[in-house]
Amino acid sequence: MSQNIFVMGLGNMGAALAKTLLGKGYPVTVWNRTESKATPLLDAGATLAHAIADGIAANEVILVCLNNYEASRRGLSSCSDLTGKTLIQLTTGSTHEASNLQDWVTQRGGRYLDGAILAYPSGIGSPGCALLVAGHEAAWSSAQDVVLTLGPASQYLGDNITAPATLDFAVIFPTVTLMLAVVQSIHALEGTGVSIETYADMIAPIFGSAGHSIKALAHSIALNDFSQTEASLAVWQAALENASNSFRPGPKNLDLVDAVSQILSGAVAGGAGSQNLAATIQYMRDSPQK
Ligand code: NDP
Repeated sequence: MSQNIFVMGLGNMGAALAKTLLGKGYPVTVWNRTESKATPLLDAGATLAHAIADGIAANEVILVCLNNYEASRRGLSSCSDLTGKTLIQLTTGSTHEASNLQDWVTQRGGRYLDGAILAYPSGIGSPGCALLVAGHEAAWSSAQDVVLTLGPASQYLGDNITAPATLDFAVIFPTVTLMLAVVQSIHALEGTGVSIETYADMIAPIFGSAGHSIKALAHSIALNDFSQTEASLAVWQAALENASNSFRPGPKNLDLVDAVSQILSGAVAGGAGSQNLAATIQYMRDSPQK
């Protein structure tokens, strides 16, 4: 019989996780700070938990997908007994946060998997979708069916609890940096007489499967419409900041990370947090060289 699942957090990603599990026949309970976001999932058969403790008490597998680990820890703080439960943290975070949360969960009798999702919400459940997870073997055994339902191409990385967060950084950073480099290039081309479409058609094939995202960015800039997104600028900014904290403090050079973070933070501070990555062009236009 399918395990009962509790999904904490119904943003773009959490809602996609819950929807996919419901579609595969799992009994799913959901919780979100803004309860109204649960409505489409309740219509699809989910049960609503008004309190996190109620959702945890009634379910065996707990999926957490919020905007940071701090929000997760605050939400979980009311739960003192996690005996028989497997908690899978899918929020983007640092290696330190992964280790600390594993300690916290195991001290309360629970099993813990730390995870990173290498997909957009629309890709959850599709054959190529991969989650990277690590944790004790017993935690993996207890929840591997759920993980493989969400990401059939998922990988269990053994008990090195920091591996998903480290690898997540190494995926997030080049992805967002490529996208910002394209936005910066389009910004550089503004006023030169070269059209955005010409540039996008030229560069997209060079980057293979990322070409689709490059074209979408360019299209968004051409239309001056930054509203379509599965991963908002605020989510990218927080993801890069949280993931790169794995290396802070420390001896590694993070100059390029800091430069990219500064652009994302500046765009979010300028009010573009809910928009897509292409909206960083507004920040670039508003902050010329000194
Ligand atoms: P959203 O911004 O869409 O949703 C954020 C979620 O966090 C909402 O449920 C929100 O609740 C909740 N939240 C924020 N602050 C708090 C708080 N203080 N207390 C309780 N809940 C809070 O983000 P996504 O769903 O896109 O991303 C969630 C996680 O998944 C992030 O760590 C992200 O890096 C990761 N991820 C996202 C991907 C994507 O493409 N979107 C891809 C891979 C990973 P409320 O609705 O009340 O605001």
